[in-house]
Amino acid sequence: MQTQTLLSEILAYNESFVKEKKYEEFETTKFPNKRMVILTCMDTRLLELLPKAINVSNGDVKTIKNAGALIMHPFGSIMRSILVAVYELQAQEVLIIGHYDCGMSGMKADSIIEKMKHKGISEETLQTLSYSGINVSDWLHGFTSVNESVEHSVDVVKKHPLMPKDIPVHGLVIDPKTGKLDLVVNGYEK
Ligand SMILES: [Zn+2]
Repeated sequence: MQTQTLLSEILAYNESFVKEKKYEEFETTKFPNKRMVILTCMDTRLLELLPKAINVSNGDVKTIKNAGALIMHPFGSIMRSILVAVYELQAQEVLIIGHYDCGMSGMKADSIIEKMKHKGISEETLQTLSYSGINVSDWLHGFTSVNESVEHSVDVVKKHPLMPKDIPVHGLVIDPKTGKLDLVVNGYEK
């Protein structure tokens, strides 16, 4: 059982991590030293590359991640996290960082739905959702251009009715191989 092995490995490692006080080098506060909140993609290639490429370490920033660095809804959990970071955790700038070669770029909802069916999700379930007003296909839809997607997210944050007007919102796209950033929206100019 692969999953059981994975979990027991994690727990065994964790025990020695705590025992040997390896956490000490990570000690910091809940307030970001660099006073910013970053929304980026959950892509595995960005896990260490992104912080290194922008020179942030533990304690420096608030990070929010999801598939595609997308803000699906102005009153969804991503936007709420950004507002909490700004009002409660002293973030003074917002960075939206998409990346090239993102899985959400050109993602085919139909192919995911096919896989769901393969895993035993019934046609009936999908139909029930559809009758309840949930269009699973639309809901799973990604984006076609990462630049446009980042611009759109910047816009959602910038124009949000609960967002303070003096918070710059920047939009960037990172290369998941080299870590090079391309500026899409300079929040100081908007
Ligand atoms: Zn991605």
